[in-house]
Amino acid sequence: MPDRYALFGHPLAHTKSPMIHGAFARDTGQDLSYEAIEAPVGGFAAAVDAFRARGGRGINVTQPFKVDAFEYATELCARAKAAGAVNCMKFEGARAIAENFDGVGLVNDIERNLGFALAGKRVLMMGAGGAARGAVLPLLSGGPALFAIANRTIAKAKSLGRHFAGHARLVTGGYGDFGDEPFDVVINATSASLRGELPPLDPRVFAVGGLACDMVYGKGMTPFLRLAWNAGAGRLADGVGMLAEQAAEAFEWWRGVRPPTAPMIRKLAVPLA
Ligand code: NDP
Repeated sequence: MPDRYALFGHPLAHTKSPMIHGAFARDTGQDLSYEAIEAPVGGFAAAVDAFRARGGRGINVTQPFKVDAFEYATELCARAKAAGAVNCMKFEGARAIAENFDGVGLVNDIERNLGFALAGKRVLMMGAGGAARGAVLPLLSGGPALFAIANRTIAKAKSLGRHFAGHARLVTGGYGDFGDEPFDVVINATSASLRGELPPLDPRVFAVGGLACDMVYGKGMTPFLRLAWNAGAGRLADGVGMLAEQAAEAFEWWRGVRPPTAPMIRKLAVPLA
């Protein structure tokens, strides 16, 4: 009987996670199953209890359940605590141990796959929602010279800043506050690209030859990436690498073996043109 894992979310029609973890299991010779469970909104805890009763060993969590999972956990790892949201859990008896790998997946992609060291760089992140919250601590851990967060609802950016108060290199504001000086790395952690929208970003934020990274994946050249390219950014990336890297972190945490991510990134990549 293979060990059971699952993704919990709603809706889940287009999820890539079962395919990704199935490939990781084959690549590493692990005997496990991975299914997508579309739990009813408001029914996360009951659905996870039922999965655990059937022998479930661990889960990934996506929208809208990342905060429900935070509340369900009996133990929170540092990144989940900092993010206030959970995207991965493992179950050991009565223990429900919670992690958040979204941000570390993003940083792995930027530093290892794209070859941009964050240390000493100027980094701007747009957005202050769940994905952005998960990214703050891992991005700060990379040691940027300055880390700026811009959000449409400025109060949310300020609140995120207060949550990480004590990090001298962190500044927050609205889109109008940034544009006077360029950033080496600009990350779009908003959901605007899902609808073909573009936050009111000053194109002068992009350093010539810098990196622009959109967390959205499967959309090709988004308005954000096009703006970056036209402004002189030298390297563009969407969220496929982040997706594969956070999955690999989860897989290694559950199974103790690291799957290769390069074949998965190649398989899922959509041309940025
Ligand atoms: P949330 O709904 O929690 O947050 C949405 C954010 O986008 C908010 O900051 C919101 O601003 C901002 N926003 C939305 N539309 C616009 C717009 N038109 N102009 C300016 N700002 C806008 O979403 P998540 O944080 O969960 O997800 C964000 C994105 O990250 C999604 O596209 C998701 O697909 C992607 N993602 C990718 C992952 C990966 O592995 N590649 C993993 C997780 C997420 P405001 O606060 O003002 O409303």
